[in-house]
Amino acid sequence: MPIATVNPANGETLKTYEAMGVEEVERRLQLAEATFRTYRTTSYAERASLLSRAADLLDEDQGEIGAVMTTEMGKPVVQARAEAAKCARAMRWYAERAEALLADELPGENDVRDSGASRVLVRYRPLGPVLAVMPWNFPLWQVVRFAAPALMAGNVGLLKHASNVPQTALYLEDLFHRAGHPEGCFQTLLVGAGAVDEILRDDRVKAATLTGSEPAGRAVASTAGEMVKKTVLELGGSDPFVVMPSADLDRAVETAVTARVQNNGQSCIAAKRFIVHADVHDAFAERFARGMRELRVGDPALEDTQVGPLATEQGRADLEELVDDARRGGATVLCGGERPEGPGWFYPPTVLTGVTREMRIHREEAFGPVATLYRAADLDEAVLIANDSPFGLSSNVWTRDADEVDRFVRDIEAGGVFFNGMTASHPAFPFGGVKRSGYGRELSGHGIREFCNITTVWHG
Ligand code: NDP
Repeated sequence: MPIATVNPANGETLKTYEAMGVEEVERRLQLAEATFRTYRTTSYAERASLLSRAADLLDEDQGEIGAVMTTEMGKPVVQARAEAAKCARAMRWYAERAEALLADELPGENDVRDSGASRVLVRYRPLGPVLAVMPWNFPLWQVVRFAAPALMAGNVGLLKHASNVPQTALYLEDLFHRAGHPEGCFQTLLVGAGAVDEILRDDRVKAATLTGSEPAGRAVASTAGEMVKKTVLELGGSDPFVVMPSADLDRAVETAVTARVQNNGQSCIAAKRFIVHADVHDAFAERFARGMRELRVGDPALEDTQVGPLATEQGRADLEELVDDARRGGATVLCGGERPEGPGWFYPPTVLTGVTREMRIHREEAFGPVATLYRAADLDEAVLIANDSPFGLSSNVWTRDADEVDRFVRDIEAGGVFFNGMTASHPAFPFGGVKRSGYGRELSGHGIREFCNITTVWHG
């Protein structure tokens, strides 16, 4: 894939970049290593001041970088600006709390005595340069979610961003630079996916984080495994959205539509499989399909657009194949399902029913505004369908019954269970999945500790 900005709303190539050569990558790796040597000794207060400055600059740039994101990957511009604002908030969250999150831990007195020590503490020390392989779907957020905690912990970052968001990638390097971070603290490597393996094998790179597809995650994790380097993987999801009879149906339907089409349907934590109790299934299906049909699809640069184009031509082709496969297998299309004529990689909000286990869409991630609808006879069947997926990122459940809440918390295989609302990430809460959605956690105290050397300091 060339490194280029191609506007998904019309297919026009706006800017093409030459990939950095081996020498430039080497220069940047050297710089990362050298910067880490001094940056690791800075105080939390110094790091917090730099990160807060970056947050202020990002707030000032919101309109400009929002428009760039929309041009590069097609998300509605209102959502792009909201993403920038969320990043600034996350930066401040870590700037204010990192010191407390990484404070020395003191084991219990009995354990200290039992070990024969006079004093023991556990200290969180940084690891070094961390490679972040990131996707285009939330081109700012995915990176900041890694960078804010990593930089506060004293690590330095090397970003290999998706090839279709080079301007956003370069903006991020510039942002940290303008905020006053030492050169080499956060660098963008403009390289293709093929260059990742060699960079990851380099001794100066200590760990890696990847958000993206399963094949990309597997490639990075296997090289990292060979090199014995820590990884965090946030891969795809096919989150269930369960609706039980006690749910507030109006709110459930409204949220279901938003949860499916946010970011043009290209979010790992978008609700994708709608599992509805038989008592309310037909009412939900009718209203959900109407809600999806009535969405305003169009130019993402317009303020009132709700759904824009898919980010890439390939992405649309992949989604179309999933829908066609389901249709051939006997699924019913309640709305959408046909690619429109004209320029741009648009695909209409689509709802499918009658999906069976044999269909690809039952097992694979539908990365676009396509929902599958399942009828469940009771809670047990709802859990069974929810867990019948290779993924386990997050989940949504609509119920007002306390016993049902307990059952879902106990039984759903996912890194999150969100009741009566939709999954959204927040800096204070851990984010990540189980099964083939990956491993490790981002955000919160769990996220910042992933790339730390957890050191036992023992005094005799
Ligand atoms: P990819 O996983 O291919 O891209 C994500 C990042 O990984 C990009 O920076 C990409 O670089 C890089 N990459 C790709 N292959 C490798 C590799 N073998 N070794 C190292 N790095 C690699 O996602 P796509 O854009 O192709 O999307 C495909 C599917 O992935 C989607 O349909 C969706 O199912 C899932 N996905 C999930 C996301 C999530 O948020 N969890 C985000 C994006 C996609 P380059 O751009 O240069 O290829």
